[in-house]
Amino acid sequence: MNETRQVIIIGGGPAGLAAGLYTSRARLSNLLIEKGIMGGLMVLAEVIENYPGFPEGISGYDLAELMHKQATKYGLATLVAEVAGFEVQGKLKVVRTSQGDFAARVVIIAGGSERQKLGVPGEKDFIGKGVSYCATCDATFFEGVPVAIVGGGDSAISEALHLTKYASKVTLIHRRDQLRATRIMQEKAFAEPKMEFRWSSVVESIEGDTTVNRLRLRQVATGEKSTLEVAGIFVSVGFKPNTAYLKGIVPLDAGGLIITNDKMETEIPGVYAAGDIRHNSGRQVITAAGEGAAAAINAEHFVTESG
Ligand code: NAP
Repeated sequence: MNETRQVIIIGGGPAGLAAGLYTSRARLSNLLIEKGIMGGLMVLAEVIENYPGFPEGISGYDLAELMHKQATKYGLATLVAEVAGFEVQGKLKVVRTSQGDFAARVVIIAGGSERQKLGVPGEKDFIGKGVSYCATCDATFFEGVPVAIVGGGDSAISEALHLTKYASKVTLIHRRDQLRATRIMQEKAFAEPKMEFRWSSVVESIEGDTTVNRLRLRQVATGEKSTLEVAGIFVSVGFKPNTAYLKGIVPLDAGGLIITNDKMETEIPGVYAAGDIRHNSGRQVITAAGEGAAAAINAEHFVTESG
């Protein structure tokens, strides 16, 4: 077992980095464990327009870098490792990772979520060959060709708008006849001449030879089938929480999200959750950061009071 700390933070998105900043400034010994790049899913956002303090917007990558820099300035320790297990051993919590086991009095779980798949024939076969889950990463591969995007939320709209800078046409396929995205995002999408909409439609299969050529669609109400010729399809149908390793240990809701009280604390004393991984989270960068800060403040009280 590696050295015991006061606080371990799982996840380096806005919730984890805010918890890192607050626990560092509280002079708690801490360790933030992140499996990939600091910032989590936030780094995929080309521009974040609703994080206070940036009236012109800021790229997710830049905001992540600033948050990381600010937390490390106050002493946040970080480790790149994948978390594979979690155990409560008396007062200690043990986090099992690809780089060994780490123990702490308090754990703040801020591991976020990952992209939901469509689960239709062809999807797996064409990943990287026309099927993508990240427009910010892959849009440039589709210069001058038609693409589709599936989903009706804020992510689908902001990714679709990004795609219009490259693709010849962007067809948004949504399973209902109304978008879920916020009004301002809807207005932008409807004003964009390169965008087309296939309402109340679902993708039944993704087809092609070496790369994607077409989608088979079904109209939900009428059952009518159609084909859409595209060179790529971007899937943006929500997220699923990274909580598989917590099942049976930390209370989860039916969707796998961690249940906490308003102090961000789970039923297990000293185990907190913050950000997209938490039931009832606001699922915004600003709310994730706020929840991370709240979890850290309550974690500090826990460490002080429980000795
Ligand atoms: P979301 O809000 O959960 O939207 C997911 C979309 O995918 C919904 O329109 C949903 O349809 C559709 N969908 C789900 N499963 C599907 C399936 N199997 N087949 C077809 N369509 C399916 O997810 P999100 O857009 O990724 O956003 C997640 C959170 O992040 C939200 O709270 C959002 O506000 C936030 N966010 C905010 C911004 C911003 O600029 N403020 C940017 C990105 C994300 P239904 O509508 O029918 O359920």
